[in-house]
Amino acid sequence: MKKFQVVIIGAGGAGLTAAIYTSRANLSTVLFEKLTPGGQIAVTDMVENYPGFPEGVLGPDIALKMEEQAKKYGTSIEYQEVKRIEKLPSGSFLVQAASGDFEAQAVILAAGASFRMLGIPGERELTGKGVSYCATCDGAFFKGKNVIVVGGGDSALQEGLFLTRFATKVTVVHRRDKLRASPILQQRAKEHPKMSFIWDTTVEKIEGQGKVQTASLKNLKTSEVSSLAVDGVFIFVGHDPNTAFLKGFVDMDEKGYIKSDGSVKTSVAGVFAAGEIRAGATKQLVAACGEGCEAALAAQEHLEHV
Ligand code: NAP
Repeated sequence: MKKFQVVIIGAGGAGLTAAIYTSRANLSTVLFEKLTPGGQIAVTDMVENYPGFPEGVLGPDIALKMEEQAKKYGTSIEYQEVKRIEKLPSGSFLVQAASGDFEAQAVILAAGASFRMLGIPGERELTGKGVSYCATCDGAFFKGKNVIVVGGGDSALQEGLFLTRFATKVTVVHRRDKLRASPILQQRAKEHPKMSFIWDTTVEKIEGQGKVQTASLKNLKTSEVSSLAVDGVFIFVGHDPNTAFLKGFVDMDEKGYIKSDGSVKTSVAGVFAAGEIRAGATKQLVAACGEGCEAALAAQEHLEHV
């Protein structure tokens, strides 16, 4: 069994920052990531609100820089999924990963959250055939096409604005008549000549032969159902925490986010939560990085007493 002082799960902003801090503090650190480094920023185009980059910085670029920085100070990165964690009688933690078992004295949970699906007919079947959850990944396939974006938050508008680079028309379909997104994104989206809005409306069904051709829309105020010809449906309706593998290990809220003491301490001594996985997190890159730092310092303090 491979032994480390600190195990970190998730290589988003929180996990990578925690790794930079624990490794620089000379604590042997292993960081697990099941996909690519960066978490949600890895599939974000331009990050405009991370301090120090007045021109903005590409999400994947900052993710790779953070990974490089963690590795530089000695973080061992394992690109594999963690299946389960349990506390051993010794007080250490057993981490069961795809390739085998690891042991650590402190755990930082930073696995973030994954995009939510709408759960409507046609969505799953047409994913990759016009239904997408990532404009940065798939936008280029929609050159000269007509797409809809579902959702009214920051992701919907930011990704919708990105899609205007390719698509001829980007229509935001939102279930209310008020957006949740930040004012600056609202203003940009409303002023963009390629963007328009359909309010108080949900997407009920997505149809097409081998590719998306129509979306069935329902106006929630009038109950009127209509069919819209579209080439793409981009869905940004929020996220769910990646905590299924932690059930029974730490306390969570009713939505599955990890409960903490208001800071990064969880219900289990020696286990810390940072970033979007934590109930009450701010869900911003800079905040996730801040929490990663806090979790690393808390883990360091914990290790001084075991
Ligand atoms: P979000 O803020 O939770 O917004 C989700 C949107 O989807 C809401 O408008 C919601 O409608 C809608 N929605 C949820 N379930 C739906 C359903 N079943 N059918 C139709 N619509 C549905 O999620 P997000 O936009 O992904 O943002 C997540 C967090 O990341 C936020 O804190 C956000 O500020 C942050 N973020 C920040 C940036 C940035 O700073 N530039 C960029 C991206 C994300 P209601 O409004 O009616 O609830």
